[in-house]
Amino acid sequence: MSVDKTVVIRNGTLIDGSGKAASRNDAIVIKGNRITSVGPLPPDVKLEDRKNVDVLDAGGQWIMPGLIDAHCHMSYGYPLIKGEGKGKGTTRPEFSTLKSARSAQKVLRAGVTSISVPGGTWFTDVGVRDAIRLGLMEGPRMFVAGRMIITYGCIEDDEPSWEGTPDHAIGKLCNTADEMVTEVRRQHKHGVNFIKMADSRSGDSQMLSREEIASVVAEAHRRNLPVAIHSRGAGSTRAAAEAGVDWIMHTDLATDADLEAVAKSGAAILPTATFLGNVVELGNKVSPDQVQLDFGRMKRHFDLLCEIMHKARKLGIKLLVGTDTGNNSFMTHGDFHAKELEIFVKYGGYTPMEAIVAATNGNAQAVGLTGQVGEIAPGKLADVIVLDADPLADITVLQGCKHLSWVIKDGRVVDLGPRDEMLTFHQAAE
Ligand SMILES: [Zn+2]
Repeated sequence: MSVDKTVVIRNGTLIDGSGKAASRNDAIVIKGNRITSVGPLPPDVKLEDRKNVDVLDAGGQWIMPGLIDAHCHMSYGYPLIKGEGKGKGTTRPEFSTLKSARSAQKVLRAGVTSISVPGGTWFTDVGVRDAIRLGLMEGPRMFVAGRMIITYGCIEDDEPSWEGTPDHAIGKLCNTADEMVTEVRRQHKHGVNFIKMADSRSGDSQMLSREEIASVVAEAHRRNLPVAIHSRGAGSTRAAAEAGVDWIMHTDLATDADLEAVAKSGAAILPTATFLGNVVELGNKVSPDQVQLDFGRMKRHFDLLCEIMHKARKLGIKLLVGTDTGNNSFMTHGDFHAKELEIFVKYGGYTPMEAIVAATNGNAQAVGLTGQVGEIAPGKLADVIVLDADPLADITVLQGCKHLSWVIKDGRVVDLGPRDEMLTFHQAAE
């Protein structure tokens, strides 16, 4: 379908992303990359003018904004290649870029029209984002960070000190505030959309000082870059809130007082329970020691995150919805982006409608498009999905791509490709 054509979605049930009750849809009109009208068909749109108008009949189906995954990695993972592997295997930026591009297509075809990418290799994700923007390939809108700013002992500081963080690492060692500020400037120069910092892996001790975080926030904000942080610990969560970080990932170990500090600061929390939820499910299927992860700790953290969801809501803290897709070989692209909504509903006290609003309208913040995307209303960017099953009756129908009839991103109807390929393709290389 040509981008110059007007697209009209007729009939169906509309869940518009604002939280308003689902209602019968007459016509959603899309011109260029914007929604121009929602409601009765405007008289100037002639459905019989098939040269200029494409009509999608969504009768008996459900229409909602494209999903946004606020936590999705694209360029992690170094597959071992026979005859070549040593250390972490293949570590070429060229390979990483192609892999990221392939994954981006899978993400979009699963109905996820925007993603926030908090960390990756080199400037791989910047490149893929730009290729999508320039129309070289199809993919979701991408809002990307660069390598995570870390100190000795943080998550992603995986090598001995004499190796530091080599170029292919996801973390970038900066052991002083000055080094951190320099790295913010370097990443900004290379086109990142936001800055990602990261404290310790599991939160047992605090690695980043409040002053260091504050110096990153000051530099980034002056350059109009939001700042996000990986923080499972209590101390780092409080420090991040006081330093003015925009959204805090996880916060598992935060005390009630820490959460009050977060509420006061206005920062959002991105719990990201899907990764842990998948580990817990995996651990229930296979014996815990077959899972190459500390199952007991993961289960504890999962339960803590579910508690945080309830507590944060009571305090009026905004929750973002993200999955950590791509952080591990079993977190395959296209499969789990809506799993977090299921967890919000099952364990976080959300209704399906509230979860949908959070993962669309609410998540626009995580992709720098607050008020522009995530809602089906005149003037908004035209990211829309149509499903053959009701997500309000069963939130799990959003997972994978089996119930998707159409995905529209930026006003274009996406070619969903051969469905069985989509359902079976996994990152075989990992
Ligand atoms: Zn992550």
